[in-house]
Amino acid sequence: MSTFLSNPLAPDTKLGSARPWSTSQNGCELVNPPQTAEALAMIIITRPDATEEQIEHIVARIHDWGLRAEVSRGEMRVVIGVIGPEDKVREKPLGAFPGVESVTPVLKPYKLVAYEFRGMPSKVKVGNVPVGGKEVVLMAGPCSVENEDQIIAIAQSIGKAGAKILRGGAFKPRTSPYSFQGLGKAGLQLLAEARRETGLPIITEVMDTKDLDLVCEYADCLQVGARNMQNFSLLREVGRTRLPVMLKRGMAASIKDLLMSAEYILSEGNFNVLLCERGIRTFETMTRNTLDLNAVPVLKAETHLPVVVDPTHGIGIRQFVPAMALAAVAAGADSIMIEVHNAPELAKSDGEQCLLPGEFADLVGRIRGVAEAIGREL
Ligand code: PEP
Ligand code: MN
Repeated sequence: MSTFLSNPLAPDTKLGSARPWSTSQNGCELVNPPQTAEALAMIIITRPDATEEQIEHIVARIHDWGLRAEVSRGEMRVVIGVIGPEDKVREKPLGAFPGVESVTPVLKPYKLVAYEFRGMPSKVKVGNVPVGGKEVVLMAGPCSVENEDQIIAIAQSIGKAGAKILRGGAFKPRTSPYSFQGLGKAGLQLLAEARRETGLPIITEVMDTKDLDLVCEYADCLQVGARNMQNFSLLREVGRTRLPVMLKRGMAASIKDLLMSAEYILSEGNFNVLLCERGIRTFETMTRNTLDLNAVPVLKAETHLPVVVDPTHGIGIRQFVPAMALAAVAAGADSIMIEVHNAPELAKSDGEQCLLPGEFADLVGRIRGVAEAIGREL
């Protein structure tokens, strides 16, 4: 049975940037009222023989009470997550419905993000590509979108090699204000053109709430970068869209911090979140960051959200990226994000860590081998 989250995507009626999978709603539309600070989450586990009518009855009653219900359908049983103000949730006789096996509160501080809230892994659809299933999904592209020839050539080569999602930055968070800051809107338009040419959905960073409407017009998935992981107003705003969000771990953030930041997004109604491990700062100076692969099995146990690993920023040195990509797949990552550039010496950002298209194609074959060895596929 499907475990897809609801994921209507943004329209492009006003754009020439046709998404083949587009629907009729705007990606930036507000979908759910925010939860209160005192929200409580309860998990209703239904009996294996619970009928569809019983489940519908439970959900209808929860809605009548003004509470929110998230239904997750597994192979064996249905799990209903209930969320609402603590005093309201506590007083309801959730265990009294026919078809209910057990009712338990989520005790973790991250409630909607906690694995038990759904009781099964979530799949998040980026465009038409599900992330979080058996398949290990490859995302690739340049750090920055630089010009038409560059992005089209890279998109074509990574698509041919087996990548399913094109990633490129139009708004770039740079350590120095004098470094290339990205092409902004023109970069988004070039990404849309690359999508038209290749059919690949696009993921791109939004740095600021003031750019969100614009980025939503083009992106199939919003990236919130490491430096913005605790920009709580941005998290809330992306949580009010219907677009998937890839949230990157801050370079000085704990795994719990990452989960709590994701909770901000889900608490606004957007369950379409991917968590990305991209390396943390340590005392090590031989590499750009230290890719914390511990985070992969820990996140897979703690949350139902899919886990992406970015070995490119994680180690920051081209020569070592493939080894860490393979290790990330072995550790259980649902998706791998790799920077690829066709002329790294000319790259306007992160040229030293991106793979050449041929190196990426070679790596894809090796990733397939590791994926198959652990019972997954590419
Ligand atoms: C990027 O993905 O190019 C980027 C800037 O990443 P991070 O936010 O992880 O540094
Ligand atoms: Mn980069």
